[in-house]
Parts: sequence; structure tokens; C-alpha cells
Amino acid sequence: MSIYVAQPSMPDLDEFIEEIRPVWESRILSNMGPLHDKFQKLLAGYLSVSHLSLFVNGHAALELAIEALGLTGEVITTPYTFASTTHAIVRRGLTPVFCDIKPDDYTIDPARIEALITEKTSAIIPVHVYGNLCDVEVIEAVARKYGLKVLYDSAQAFGVRYKGRGVGSFGDAAMFSFHATKVFHSIEGGALAFRDACLKQKLHLLRNFGIAGEEQIESVGMNAKLDEFRSAMGICNLRHLAGEMEKRKAVFERYRGHLAGIPGLRLNPVQQDVEPNYAYFPLYVDPELFGCNRDDLHRFLAQHDIFVRKYFYPAVNHFPCYRGMFPRGNTPVSDRVSQHILTLPMYAGLPLEEVDRICRVVLSAGSLKRPRV
Ligand SMILES: *Cc1c(COP(=O)(O)O)cnc(C)c1O
Repeated sequence: MSIYVAQPSMPDLDEFIEEIRPVWESRILSNMGPLHDKFQKLLAGYLSVSHLSLFVNGHAALELAIEALGLTGEVITTPYTFASTTHAIVRRGLTPVFCDIKPDDYTIDPARIEALITEKTSAIIPVHVYGNLCDVEVIEAVARKYGLKVLYDSAQAFGVRYKGRGVGSFGDAAMFSFHATKVFHSIEGGALAFRDACLKQKLHLLRNFGIAGEEQIESVGMNAKLDEFRSAMGICNLRHLAGEMEKRKAVFERYRGHLAGIPGLRLNPVQQDVEPNYAYFPLYVDPELFGCNRDDLHRFLAQHDIFVRKYFYPAVNHFPCYRGMFPRGNTPVSDRVSQHILTLPMYAGLPLEEVDRICRVVLSAGSLKRPRV
């Protein structure tokens, strides 16, 4: 059996059909119908945020958040992320200024932010990579001192809580992704949680062509609406989320049981006061100690039908589309981590015996090549 890095959770087909049955009577397929509104309300409750709007995907939510928050000039962010974060900044005509990450949890290193601030800086866009919480308190203090906005890319941090607070309640706004590969999904989908109630009207215009009324177009918006079918999928998946999280936790603990303490393998940290979401299982491979490098381990696993991913390699500032645009030597930690990391299969439906097998293959890759003394 081939194993991939992620597999979406699915409700029973009958449950999904029940959820979309009313659509056949109403013929309301999109444009903020009843399922959209129900999903939006349920999510705001689950995430413990006061304001939340839905979008067709996380990336669109991020671009529109940048626009609605009125960001300009330079934005401080990290290159150790999915393409979407940087692309959103560049597509909005802004300049990303790359800050290095911390070697322990791979999120933005807040001690390096101040040195990057210029008079053109308007915001910080940090990423809760793998669901690891950024230093939200320090980031907020820096942002307040310099009058910067903070927009979190929380695409990977759905359901994470810090000291009991939902991750989406930090910063001026936080984007979530409900793509099929994420912890929680609506096939495609996304949301923006935000602090200032005034953003709501702006965002709602921007996601629907700026249409304020039948004869009233108020802004140059785009189409980023979430339809009724995807909303229904989200509603069904939300119903089963607690159980799916329990299964993820069991997979996570099984992995840790096999791989914690192995020389040359560094596991994702367990963060203080953070309720995690078990979204990913990143493994940092130190070839000197482990006996095999990341790329060889990647290939060895593939030979055993285990298809893991090198998230995040290459780092964004090494993408061919950004060649020559950004300095590359300023983020050595990001460079090093991206060359040593891979993420193991992690999803609720992964049988624990398969976790055992994956770990056996990982460990044998190390011992095969490890020099014997
Ligand atoms: C998935 C992801 C996105 C994009 O979300 P989509 O819903 O696929 O558009 C953005 N940033 C990060 C870090 C992600 O993991």
C-alpha cells in the first residue's frame, strides 16, 4: 500500500447528501447562501474569534486581507513557508523583506524583526509553520512600538490555542486555509479572522466584485466567494473534527514513541501553553549523527512506497520566479532547515501499524549508512 504525506478526512457520503439536500429545493448554489452562513457561524465559534469571513481559498483571503488592511511598501515575513505567503505580498505589489526563522520551531525570529524595519514597512506577516505558534506576544509588542499591522498566515494552525485563546484572535487578522490537505477542510476554502469590525464590509465587497447593491459597485473587487457545496463539506467535517484530532494525536504519539531520542533526528517541539493541532510531523535530519541525509532518506522511503514531502524546500527566496529579486544570504537558518527537513505522513486515517512500519524504514535508512565503529 502506498502511503502519502496527507489524506483528507471525509464524512459519510449519506451525511454529505443530507447536508446538501436543501440546495436542490432552493437552487441557491453560491453567493452567501444558508450553508455558507451556517458554516461561517460555526467556524467563528470553533475558532473563538469575534469576526470571521469565508473565502474560496486561503490564498485569496490573504491577498484580500493585505488589500483591506491597506498595507503598502515593505512587509516583513519569512521565506520558510508555502509559496502562497510571499506570492500574496508580491501580487499585491508590495515588497517582502525576509526575516530569518528560529532553529527550534521554524517560526519568525522576533529578535531579528526590528533591524529590518524601515520607513516603508507597513506590516509583519508571520507564519505559524506546521501549526507551531509564533511568538505572538513579542511580535505584538514590536508591531505596537512601530505602528505596524500584523497579519498571520495561520493556514496550518487551524484549531491551535494559546493559553486558551484561539490562534486566530492574535494580530489584526489571521488567515486560515481549508484546502483538502489541511487538518480541517472544505475541499477548497479559507477564512479570515479579524479584530476590527470595520474590515467586514470592505472584505465582503472585495470578495464579490465590489458589489454593494444591484446598481452600486463600490470597489474593484474580485470573485472569492465560498459556494454552498464546499460549505456543506466544511459543516460535515467540523462535526467530526474532535474525533479526527484524537486520531491525529495517537499517530503523533506513536511517531514520537519510535523517533524521540534517536541521534540525528530532531522532532517538532512541544510548545509551552499551546494546544497543538497535530497538523504535520516534520523531521529534521542531521546526516552526521543519523548516518543518512534528508534526500537519501526521502528516496529510501519512496523505495518502500512511502511518499513524504520536503516541506519547505526550497525556501521561497530560492524560487526561480524570485531569482535576483531578494538577497539570499540573510536567512541562513531558513536555508539550513529547508535542506535538512522532511515531513512524514500525518493524517487521522493513518493506521498505527503503518506508523510503526514508516518508523522501521526511517530507522533502517539511518543504520544502513551509519558508519560502524
Ligand atoms: C495551504 C497554505 C496556504 C494557502 O492556502 P490555500 O487554501 O491552498 O489557498 C497559505 N499558506 C500556507 C502556510 C499554507 O500551508
